[in-house]
Amino acid sequence: MSDIDGRAVAKEIRAEVSAAAAKLRENGTVPTLAVVVPTDDEGTAWYVRSIKKAAEKEGVDCRIEQLDEPGKGEIIAKLQELSADPDVHGIICQTPLPEGVTLAEVGWYISPFKDIDGANSEGLGRLAQGRRTWAPATAAAVLELLKREDLTLSGARAVVVGRSTVVGKPAALLLLNESATVTVCHSKTKDLAGVCREADILVAAVGRAGMIGADFVKPGATVIDVGTNPTEDGGLVGDVDYAAVSEIAGRLTPVPGGVGPVTTALLLRHTVEAAELSKTHP
Ligand code: NAP
Repeated sequence: MSDIDGRAVAKEIRAEVSAAAAKLRENGTVPTLAVVVPTDDEGTAWYVRSIKKAAEKEGVDCRIEQLDEPGKGEIIAKLQELSADPDVHGIICQTPLPEGVTLAEVGWYISPFKDIDGANSEGLGRLAQGRRTWAPATAAAVLELLKREDLTLSGARAVVVGRSTVVGKPAALLLLNESATVTVCHSKTKDLAGVCREADILVAAVGRAGMIGADFVKPGATVIDVGTNPTEDGGLVGDVDYAAVSEIAGRLTPVPGGVGPVTTALLLRHTVEAAELSKTHP
């Protein structure tokens, strides 16, 4: 079994981002990401600071727009303001959102030209149509990791566990667009382990620590673990039982050090792409 090294992949992407950002700056454009933060959750604050640090290291400006107990209207107003601001190229609306507000509702107010984390349903629609778009960065990270492996996605049997709009569904669509044969599983799936055992490529995006055991995995399969579950000692574990599955899988992403760093790197890549696009679109 070999680990798929997300940190190494992220390093390569970030080097490309850095070069692209430098070129944009030479031509008078400062690539800028705005992160709207609608709650004061400590975990979210830590994550957003890590995005800012990564962005600024690669030459991408990052504005954190902290909102104080906002209602839906204030979040929408901020997203509209940033969408109209010519100095902002990429916009993220950070979850969790306040009670009763969904990303699907407010994401609609992020300009599609700045929607670098696929929050506007137009992006999901374009993905379903097989057109170019920025998929949610975590789903895009799944595909990025797979594409960098020596794998044939076309015709491969792929199983995605999880059907959320931010991870499971877009990951499934990205795989389908690569001509994989895709099955999407969820909490009502019968014989989940049996379905997962059919997979050449297994993507776990559930949010339940260690639920994917060795009996879910076909020998030699490639397993991408999207799950990030906090442990009591302040660590992080995935949805995959790493010790058991590493005995049977061909390749496996660790947690931490798998999907997470690539997700951050892709947010930055998408932002520089949006900055490049801003030269031809308003
Ligand atoms: P979510 O919105 O809670 O969706 C979880 C999905 O898992 C749902 O589709 C749910 O099915 C399914 N599920 C729950 N229990 C199940 C079970 N026993 N058997 C089969 N399916 C089950 O979560 P999410 O936002 O997609 O995130 C998933 C995981 O990825 C979380 O651990 C999250 O922290 C992590 N994540 C990581 C990154 C990163 O950058 N690494 C980014 C985003 C999220 P139903 O639809 O039937 O309820």
